Amino acid sequence: MDEKVRIVFLGGVGEVTKNMFVYEYWRDGKIADSIIVECGIGFSETGDEIIMPDVSYLLDKQDTLRATVLTHGHEDHTSALSTLLSQIRIPVYGTRLTVALAEGKLADHGIQAELHPVKHKQILNFGAFQVRFVHVTHSIPDATNLIIKTPLGVLFHASDFKFDWSPVDGWPTEVGKIALAGESGILCLLSDCVRSERSGYTLSEETIEDHLELQVKKAHGKVIFTTMSSNISRIQQAVNVASAFNRKILFLGRSMRQNVEAAQHLGYLHFPKKSIVHSKSVKKIPSNKLFIIAAGSQAQEDSALSRIADNAHKDISLAPHDMVIFSADPIPGYERQVHKLVNKMTKLGADVVYSDINDELHVSGHGASQDLMLMMGLTRPKYIVPIGGESRQVRQYFLLAEKMGYSDDTLFAPEEKDAIEFTRDGKARIVKEVA
Ligand SMILES: [Zn+2]
Repeated sequence: MDEKVRIVFLGGVGEVTKNMFVYEYWRDGKIADSIIVECGIGFSETGDEIIMPDVSYLLDKQDTLRATVLTHGHEDHTSALSTLLSQIRIPVYGTRLTVALAEGKLADHGIQAELHPVKHKQILNFGAFQVRFVHVTHSIPDATNLIIKTPLGVLFHASDFKFDWSPVDGWPTEVGKIALAGESGILCLLSDCVRSERSGYTLSEETIEDHLELQVKKAHGKVIFTTMSSNISRIQQAVNVASAFNRKILFLGRSMRQNVEAAQHLGYLHFPKKSIVHSKSVKKIPSNKLFIIAAGSQAQEDSALSRIADNAHKDISLAPHDMVIFSADPIPGYERQVHKLVNKMTKLGADVVYSDINDELHVSGHGASQDLMLMMGLTRPKYIVPIGGESRQVRQYFLLAEKMGYSDDTLFAPEEKDAIEFTRDGKARIVKEVA
C-alpha cells in the first residue's frame, strides 16, 4: 500500500494572518481523508482590506473532507468560515468559546453551520486522523494546540501560544500533555513564530492589571479603554480596575458587546450586573464615574472609537481631561491609521495613553524566543515548520532551532499553496504549488 500524509498551506505561512491548513492522508495515489485546520481571514499590507483564503483547491475534494478544526477564536483563524461554508458543507469543531464566537459571526452572514463545541479532553476521530486538544495560553481564553495522529506519525499543530504561568483565568498551558506527546514521538511540529525576534519569555497577562490601575488613578474625567474585542482576559482586567474605582462600565461597539455577551454567558468573563450601564443612560453618570470599554483599537473605520474621535458618536463625546487608554498594539499595517486616531483624540483635549508612551498596558499573546524553544524542547519533533510569521521571523525561528541542534534538512519554510509531504520511510519534502 502506497501511503503519504500531506499538509497543504492555503495560508498562514510567510504571513501572520489568514491561517488555513489542509491535512491529507493519501492511499494508493488518492486522498482518502482530509481535515481543515483553521479558517481565517488575512489583512492587506496597508491594513485597509480583508483578504479571504482561496478555497477553490477544496471544491473537487469534498468527498474526502471530514471536518474543520479551529484552535481558537481569533479572526485570522476563524473568520473565513463564512466563505468556506457558503461553498462546502463540513462540520466545524472547536472549544466552547471558539465555537460561540464563530457562531456569532456566521449568524451575521446568515449562515447556518454544523458547529460542535468540544471539551479539551475529548478525542475526535476523522477517518485516518485522530485529533486531541491541548489547552494553551494566548490573548483569548479557551485557546488550543492540536495533537494530530496519522497513520504515518504524530503532527503537533502549535498555532498561537505562549507559556503564561499566571494567566488571568488561572489556566496555564498544559505542558504535561505536550511533554507526553513529545515523549511518544512527534514527526513534525508546526509552530507559531511571530515573536521569534524577541528574546526571553513573553510577559504574563496578569502584569497588566497593576499598571492599568496606576494609569486609571490619574484620570479625572471618563476613561475610555480599548483593546481587541476578543481579548477577554484583558477585558476582565479592565472590568476589575473599573470596579476598584467604583466606575460604571459601558461596553461600546457591536463586536465588543457580542464577544462580552458570549464570554459572560459561557463563564469566561465575570462582572456584577449592577455595574453595567447602557449607552442611553450614560449621560446621567458623572464623567469621573464612567469607564467605557470600546471596540476599535485598530482604528477600524466605523468603529465606536473612530466615531468618538470624529465627534460623531450619538451618545459619547470626548472632553478635555478624559483619558483614552490603548491596551493593544497596532496590527502591522494599521500603525498609520491608529496614530491618526490618537491625533484626533488628542486635538479634542483627551489624555491619550498608547504603547509609545506607556508600554506596560499591553503584552503579546504570542511566545517569544524562550517560549518557542520550550515548545521545541517539549515536543522534540523530527521536523519543524514555522507558521504564522513573515520571512524575517521564520529566519529567526530557524536560528533558535539550530541552537537546539536542528539541521537545515529538518527545517522547512513552505510558501502559500505549497505542501509538505511525509512518506512511510520517515522522509519529508516540500511539494511546490499544489493548490
Ligand atoms: Zn491568535
